[in-house]
Amino acid sequence: MNMPNHQIYINFITNHLEHAQHAICINQSFCGECHACTKWVDQMHPDWCCFHADKMVGVEDINYLIHKSHFYPKFANHKLISIICPHGITEAAQNKLLKVLEESLQTQWDIYIDESIQQLILPTLYSRLKVVHQSEKELNTSESELQQWQSFILQKQPTPPNEDINQLAHALSHLIVKGLGDTSKLIAMMDRVIKIKRHHSFNLKLRATSAIQLIMEL
Ligand SMILES: [Zn+2]
Repeated sequence: MNMPNHQIYINFITNHLEHAQHAICINQSFCGECHACTKWVDQMHPDWCCFHADKMVGVEDINYLIHKSHFYPKFANHKLISIICPHGITEAAQNKLLKVLEESLQTQWDIYIDESIQQLILPTLYSRLKVVHQSEKELNTSESELQQWQSFILQKQPTPPNEDINQLAHALSHLIVKGLGDTSKLIAMMDRVIKIKRHHSFNLKLRATSAIQLIMEL
């Protein structure tokens, strides 16, 4: 069995479901076919515990999750605990977590924070985790890039910029919200974006225009 690879994700809170689907999959790809993948129902999985904190994560929260981690995985290679903590983690809870990570052989711990609180995470905790960081710049498409995408979507010109699929999704949602263009076509495109994101690596960068062409049905 592979050792679990604990991770801290910075600015990926909205991606935690996709990450979980990949981590739970025996083939690490959300193949939809392995015996772990087939157990997803309504975005829930018997081997996944997703903890959304609405305040700072404290020691009692970590204790609750440790208890959850004591049950053996049923279908996946290891259990997965995702802690979504936009408000941070107390220092005491981080120290508790440190000990857990050292001893955790059958559970993978994934922690999600926003860039705004990354300074509050102890260096010792970072050292135990694989850090996956997405900068604010990558997160937010600039206004001019957005316009470029919008004119591409509405007029199918100029040549498709070879950008991240998230920017296309961002532009599509803008157009849908503003009621620009043919809404049902835009929603169909958005649907294809979501499908492509689900079935490819969540880090999918468009290497060629093939994925965009697929989405736009060019
Ligand atoms: Zn699978």
